[in-house]
Amino acid sequence: MDRVLVKILGYEVDSFTYDEALEYAFANSGQIVTINPEMIETARKNDDFAKLLNGAELVVPDGVGVEIGLKILGHKVKRIPGVELGKALIIKFSKAGKSVALIGAKPDVVDLAAKNLKDEIPELNIVYKHDGYFDNDNEIIEQVSKASPDLVLVALGSPKQEFFIKSLKDVLPKATMIGLGGSFDVWAGVVNRAPKIYQKLGLEWLYRTIKEPQRFKRIFPTLPLFVLRVCKERFICR
Ligand code: UDP
Repeated sequence: MDRVLVKILGYEVDSFTYDEALEYAFANSGQIVTINPEMIETARKNDDFAKLLNGAELVVPDGVGVEIGLKILGHKVKRIPGVELGKALIIKFSKAGKSVALIGAKPDVVDLAAKNLKDEIPELNIVYKHDGYFDNDNEIIEQVSKASPDLVLVALGSPKQEFFIKSLKDVLPKATMIGLGGSFDVWAGVVNRAPKIYQKLGLEWLYRTIKEPQRFKRIFPTLPLFVLRVCKERFICR
């Protein structure tokens, strides 16, 4: 399967369906980025992050923001929530006898997430697990490298998790690695995903902002500015 990339504000996004993205991620090693408007805004101010995004092996639109932006630009690409793709990857890798590493979240959260995943997926083989509050990156990288997992899930928040995966790429060239934000909190059951109706309407961000009002400053003014920039690209720059 070949990648078909579309561009948004200069950043490449794969136009795979959910099933295609899962197949592609399973069959190919490298870095998977679950892109959202905040990451694109970060990349505008950080060249290294911009390069990282365009150098990733797979980029899926995580939230409704990028889906809407792509729609404005005339591309029909459906969002692929990282929390769903991450779980589907764990199941697929585990059933194929492949090993998994979990890095991120608070110590009790990553432990609980691992336990819940193991209860749900008996084939799961976790060869490495670490919380996300460390500053000895090199040591952790060495430990993960020794454990040699096939699938690495990193939940440190963005852009920390993407830079961490980029460093891991050198020591684990055959692994598939994905940055997953707050997914471990969901798998541990300490944070609930938005009810289905919010997910269906693309309003998961609204639910999370109501539940965690401190997220408001992450969305505003980033989200409206992002939509404005996309509109400018669509209607003025072409
Ligand atoms: N986190 C971490 N190390 C840090 C900062 C954050 O492991 O130094 C974890 C945090 O505990 C949470 C996740 O990273 O589990 C970040 O979730 P956030 O809600 O920011 O991510 P989003 O889903 O919005 O991308």
